Amino acid sequence: MVNTISILGSTGSIGTQALDVARKLNLNICALTAHSNTDILEQQVREFKPSFAVVFCEDKAKDFRLKIADTNTKVLSGMDGLIQASTADGADMVLNSVVGMVGLLPTLSAINAGKDIALANKETLVAGGQLVMNAVEANRVNMYPVDSEHSAIFQCMQGMNDKKELKRLILTASGGPFFGKTADELKDVTLKDALNHPNWSMGAKITIDSASMMNKGLEIIEASWLFDMPQDRIDVVVHRESIIHSMIEFTDNSVLAQLGQPDMRIPIQYAITYPNRYESPVKPLDLTEISNLSFYKPDYKTFKCLSACKKAIEMGGSAPAIVNGANEVANRMFRDGKIKFLEIGELVTEALHNVEKKEIKSVDDVLFADKSARQYVIDAVG
Ligand code: NDP
Ligand code: MG
Repeated sequence: MVNTISILGSTGSIGTQALDVARKLNLNICALTAHSNTDILEQQVREFKPSFAVVFCEDKAKDFRLKIADTNTKVLSGMDGLIQASTADGADMVLNSVVGMVGLLPTLSAINAGKDIALANKETLVAGGQLVMNAVEANRVNMYPVDSEHSAIFQCMQGMNDKKELKRLILTASGGPFFGKTADELKDVTLKDALNHPNWSMGAKITIDSASMMNKGLEIIEASWLFDMPQDRIDVVVHRESIIHSMIEFTDNSVLAQLGQPDMRIPIQYAITYPNRYESPVKPLDLTEISNLSFYKPDYKTFKCLSACKKAIEMGGSAPAIVNGANEVANRMFRDGKIKFLEIGELVTEALHNVEKKEIKSVDDVLFADKSARQYVIDAVG
């Protein structure tokens, strides 16, 4: 098992749960990072005594340096700081749980430094899939999924004899707060409505991505890269209770599923302890308490983000980076009250069709596609 870990985005929803897991497993912490939430980061530094703490925001980093001057933790800042944290000697694994494309360079740097990766930051794989997977192979490191659906598939795959016998991946989706609603009913939904997720408690960006189903679209792309599967062999089924976290189907039509409480500490812990399992703080599953599990087809017409992501992975090249970049801006604009909910799907779809698509040969190509998509949305909203 991993002995020492660095956690990027340690102050977020996944980051704090990862530290909960680390505490119970008695892991050493090499580096912790935040964007600007120095109050939580300070508590974490005092408890876990990492060698490095990164505050992405430069101004806040200056104050933070003074705040924790009595500790032995070195404070870094900006992208350089994130990269130093992700490549620091001593860590066997880097858990990347920052939100957004900002995680791409730290993930690539960690891989190139020979670190195993526990990946929550799905935007990294969506935008830079080919580059990331090539780097994983070239550096012979392991990348373990933290996203619950991908962890479920990975867990099911432990029961697979030969990849040739795998027919299909079945991603489950809760359907979010707006399942079953028509476009007309979604016209005037508020931020409060969209943040009201039925089963999971998560950061704001992914909660909105779940309401728009962009999250499931990103997860199709993520699964396609992680498990080397074309999008036409990745299906989505809406499963309202979020008890089955995903499934795999074999050539003989037998299906394996992974079940558990909707609690991210199980997939986080499995990514860290693979292939072993340890006790966890998660409540055991009592199926008689749940009694019903329900399944429905997703609505690709109303939830335009889902169709845009399927199209993007089919198009290949920079198209996934474009839908991701467009969504990062549109999601933020919706949270800032600048656009309406349905405009997220419209803007992502428009960006996919109108932003120039190219082959991805380098990180710069990914960054360029991302920037162009962001600019497209900014200009379109005006
Ligand atoms: P949160 O918003 O709760 O946390 C994000 C973390 O990243 C925080 O530590 C934040 O710091 C830091 N951060 C944010 N922006 C930047 C930036 N520009 N530069 C550096 N650091 C930054 O997100 P979640 O924990 O919910 O999600 C993290 C990732 O995991 C996302 O990619 C998400 O899709 C994925 N994921 C999350 C799940 C969940 O249950 N939450 C489930 C599956 C996947 P600060 O606190 O200072 O702002
Ligand atoms: Mg997920």
